[in-house]
Amino acid sequence: MTEIKLYNTRSRKKERFEPIDPDNVRMYVCGPTVYDRAHLGNARPVVVFDVLFRLLRHVYGPDHVTYVRNFTDVDDKINARAAESGREISQITAETTQWFLEDMGELGALEPTHMPRATQYIPQMVAMIEDLIEKGHAYEAEGHVLFAVDSWRGKYGRLSGRSVDDMIAGARVEVAPYKRNPMDFVLWKPSTPDLPGWDSPWGRGRPGWHIECSAMAYELLGESFDIHGGGNDLMFPHHENEIAQSCCAHPEGDFAKVWMHNEMLQVEGKKMSKSLGNFFTVRDLLDQGVPGEVIRFVFLSTHYRKPMDWTAEKAREAEKTLKKWYAKAAQGVGMGEPYVAVVQALADDLNTPLAISELHQLYLADDVSTLRHTLQFLGLMTDDVPDWISGPAIDLSVFVDMFSEERAKAMRNKDFSKVDRLKTVLIAAGIEVRMSKEGVELVPGPDFDPAKLEALK
Ligand SMILES: [Zn+2]
Repeated sequence: MTEIKLYNTRSRKKERFEPIDPDNVRMYVCGPTVYDRAHLGNARPVVVFDVLFRLLRHVYGPDHVTYVRNFTDVDDKINARAAESGREISQITAETTQWFLEDMGELGALEPTHMPRATQYIPQMVAMIEDLIEKGHAYEAEGHVLFAVDSWRGKYGRLSGRSVDDMIAGARVEVAPYKRNPMDFVLWKPSTPDLPGWDSPWGRGRPGWHIECSAMAYELLGESFDIHGGGNDLMFPHHENEIAQSCCAHPEGDFAKVWMHNEMLQVEGKKMSKSLGNFFTVRDLLDQGVPGEVIRFVFLSTHYRKPMDWTAEKAREAEKTLKKWYAKAAQGVGMGEPYVAVVQALADDLNTPLAISELHQLYLADDVSTLRHTLQFLGLMTDDVPDWISGPAIDLSVFVDMFSEERAKAMRNKDFSKVDRLKTVLIAAGIEVRMSKEGVELVPGPDFDPAKLEALK
């Protein structure tokens, strides 16, 4: 059996992975809060842990891996979105959940075994909070229930390597008069009549964010499971708080054995932000004609524990490479095993850049069937090669119309300067412009670059 090694944030070491139960390897990954389209950074953990899911299924068998990724469908950001748009919360969360699944599907991500919605687990959260109060780890104050970090002092902060005192000194803790310690965090909070709420022993209210994951992981995976993943921005406070809640409510277990965190994503060397104008969603890229396989390939070209820099240049390179690989993989046949060197690269703490260089070797070796099975294993290909390899993924008809119209105008007023400018942009984008009496035809060449058409929009 392939030996898997994973870097465990908890021990700061790469460790040999030994599942608690090889017949049921269990993984939990924190999912999205559903109020808007997933941006590119949100997609990174989805792809990273999808690669791990595929590796675990390969090694332990597809029926012996349970992967849980939640949807957070109760949150103040959702409430705010509903208030500003005048739409129902349930409409927003249902629509966004569907978008998320569609967009991640385009990136070749398999659906997890379970995708629990937080609002379906409110009674379990209430029960866990009651248990924490009973065991002396939580207390009620002014309609809120708070977790008392002092009840777990010495252990709180171990994952991220901080002490409670450091955290108080440096953190943006929300100071509230009813907190015994400023680091205490909310398990339950009261809801005003205009906000979503559920009846509880502490009045009508709603859960805090952290308790969701603890309750759903316990219900679906038990008090101890193998792997917990997420972006490294979740390590503190979210994951610290999950550990505190789960280990205090279920001291018989040790919650997650291996903690894995992916690094963040940048765009062209800068942090993605709306103010810098480099913020985009997965759907924006897909709509611009960047295929999902290309996005996935670019993600895989950087190791998950390194910051990932998304650049248009990388996307162009990825597209060229994939086209080359698909042309060969299309000749491959049947069902089969992925290339051993690629599996081994992934088994070494998901070394996806190494897996890609092994694929380059495999391509040169002309083993078309193994190339095909390996691309499928990596989620870069389904049963067939994607249809975008034979032509551009975007519709050029809008540019054909634009060009024809300008050309007709130019014929009338004998001023061809605008037509010439248009033609220059099209040629620079790698398009051959064919003009005849029948009309205009735009034929994308091998260097076709849809991004260069942006100037015309
Ligand atoms: Zn979580």
